Amino acid sequence: MIPYGKQDLSDEDIQAVTDVLQSDFLTQGPQVPLFEQSLQQLTGADYAVAVNSATSALHIACLALGLGPGKLAWTSPITFVATANSVVYTGADVDFVDIDPDTFNLDPEKLREKLEYHSTVGQPLPDVVIPVHMCGQSCDMKAIHELSIKYGFRILEDAAHAIGGHYSDNPVGSCQFSEITVFSFHSVKIVTTGEGGAALTNHSELAERMLLLRSHGVTRDPALMDKEPDGGWYYQQVDLGFNYRMTDMQAALGTSQLKRLPEFVARRQQLAARYNQLLKSLPLKTPTVRENVLSAWHLYVIRLDLKQLKDDKEKLFKQLRASGIGVNLHYIPVYQQPFYRKRLGEAFSLPEAEQYYRKAISIPLFGVMSDEEQDCVVESLGRVLA
Ligand SMILES: *Cc1c(COP(=O)(O)O)cnc(C)c1O
Repeated sequence: MIPYGKQDLSDEDIQAVTDVLQSDFLTQGPQVPLFEQSLQQLTGADYAVAVNSATSALHIACLALGLGPGKLAWTSPITFVATANSVVYTGADVDFVDIDPDTFNLDPEKLREKLEYHSTVGQPLPDVVIPVHMCGQSCDMKAIHELSIKYGFRILEDAAHAIGGHYSDNPVGSCQFSEITVFSFHSVKIVTTGEGGAALTNHSELAERMLLLRSHGVTRDPALMDKEPDGGWYYQQVDLGFNYRMTDMQAALGTSQLKRLPEFVARRQQLAARYNQLLKSLPLKTPTVRENVLSAWHLYVIRLDLKQLKDDKEKLFKQLRASGIGVNLHYIPVYQQPFYRKRLGEAFSLPEAEQYYRKAISIPLFGVMSDEEQDCVVESLGRVLA
């Protein structure tokens, strides 16, 4: 089976982890701060907080941005459930804005319409909007940022797919148009630490809050305490935090992997360009990337031209899997999940998200994919869609 994604581990990556295993610290040693520095250098953001998953990063980012009971966040329906879940963890409500059918990203025009409508009829406006950079392509952050000024919400970028990508000359993660950006280092993502995530920000108070929440809400910094320390042993719990810490083994792997990020993304771009070319004549739509965006190409999603095909998507999907092509689907609209149907009502539906769900299939794309493997995917697609 040619998988839809696969990690790329070098001998140096393995050595970096082995070195930590032979050192004094398996966790909370020197490696996590070093990895955070590498992330700051990559993105240009002032602060990086590394944690044990992007889900954890999203959770503490939502808390740092003030989400909680009585608050509201809006996000894209075409994302992994973790994006919406991180809002619900805080006790806040979540609502969804439809996607742009060309980029699969939260559509700023639909966001504008929904904001205008809600403000006209007196329905609640979001405290936070969470754009998701689907497949590695940044959302139209300038447009979303302009709306944030007019309507007073804050922006949290879910960039789980987009490390190594650019938007308007800046690396994704620079937070030029947002308060916080979150990366994932799950093993299927572009850079991996096994499991892991990070939150980037340019705001010291948000970084401080996330650092506290990452580790039980406990601090050893006298400046954050409500009285003088009792002695050298002293710490205070000043908030209710979690154990969301990244280990030194993971951080060392991350630092080593980041060195090859340009290489990873260049290969993904090459493969994507090759797919665009090779798939031209088939009854499907290849993905579109906007002009001021450099996609990191985490995923390659095709949309089937169902009118031209004799079989339905389920049948084609089965045939592709049977011919050894690890096709997948990213994602089922989140509001269709039973958990969210209960919250939003059975009737909740967004037309572009539904349309996307009917037609989309992710085909294999990963850094260590060979041209021959790619040719094999194209050939199987050609056969199955004929
Ligand atoms: C993978 C992913 C997450 C969650 O990342 P983890 O590191 O597995 O917690 C969140 N959002 C999106 C869009 C993702 O693809």
